[in-house]
Amino acid sequence: MSVEPAVALDEIEAARVRIAEAVRPTPQVVSSALSDLAGAPVHLKLDHLQATGSFKLRGASNAVLQLDEAARARGVVGVSTGNHGRALAHAARRVGARCVICMSALAPANKAEGVRAEGAEARIIGESQDEAQEEVDRLVAKEGLVMIPPFDHRDVIAGQGTLGLEMLEAAPDARVALIQLSGGGLISGVAAALKALKPGIRVIGVSMARGAAMQASLEAGRPVAVEELATLADSLGGGIGLENRLTFPMVRDLVDEVVLLSEAEIAAGVRHCYWLERQIVEGAGAVGVAALLAGRVALEGPALVLLSGANIDMKIHHRIISGENVDIAAEGR
Ligand SMILES: *Cc1c(COP(=O)(O)O)cnc(C)c1O
Repeated sequence: MSVEPAVALDEIEAARVRIAEAVRPTPQVVSSALSDLAGAPVHLKLDHLQATGSFKLRGASNAVLQLDEAARARGVVGVSTGNHGRALAHAARRVGARCVICMSALAPANKAEGVRAEGAEARIIGESQDEAQEEVDRLVAKEGLVMIPPFDHRDVIAGQGTLGLEMLEAAPDARVALIQLSGGGLISGVAAALKALKPGIRVIGVSMARGAAMQASLEAGRPVAVEELATLADSLGGGIGLENRLTFPMVRDLVDEVVLLSEAEIAAGVRHCYWLERQIVEGAGAVGVAALLAGRVALEGPALVLLSGANIDMKIHHRIISGENVDIAAEGR
């Protein structure tokens, strides 16, 4: 690949050293069930076992650890109520920095509790994401807090990219990687690391068919908005930002193919992870496994597959693993 990515290998290697103490080392295991099915070794990286229940702690830690003393004293702010919010709160607490997560009154109460449990302040503002964003802008302007976005930020991308280094080191003969794709911070970092170390490796993005904003943007040739729809892979929901600077071009230049999955296929991935791999994984975390199970990817050799998160409502998880056909959209979630 001749294109030099915006976030390069040296930044990812530096991130790895920087965050080493802040993140857990997570295992990578060969799945015999998936290897038999796919006809090639399938290596599962178990980063759903990461502290806070997702890989997002890598990017958040890399961003927080680069703040100078003055910025740490003022603190950080974010709008995500999901895995990024939890990760940012955790990373900030570790260095003693203030962290405010702004959310609208529409966010479920347990999300605010989850953020508070990580030691951050949850500020409930207005009735929409836009109003919550206005409060973020106010905190940045008036109190000097530093906004850390969930994906379109070079330190976040470099932090997520550390997964690529670890995954390839544990399976140097890998020919293909199946990586979750939403805002693209994860796959941009991972693909930059993998392709710098092994240019021939194929990187496949996996997302849900319902509301796949990056895929729509790739087709349009520029960032576009899509309607946000309820999905079992809720951590993959949301847009890529019409002002996207980094992840859109990185995904366009580094990702070889995108696979979009149905809700039933995602549920089958969660079910497989539980019954055969003995892992509790959220919908988004299981899409790589789901793509293999659905026969949507032909493996030309050993594969790297990431389990990215574990933060699923356990009542929903129970229904999925019990074989129930859970239709999240019909339930109005
Ligand atoms: C955020 C997230 C993703 C996608 O990461 P992006 O950088 O937005 O593409 C995948 N899986 C889980 C569990 C996540 O929390």
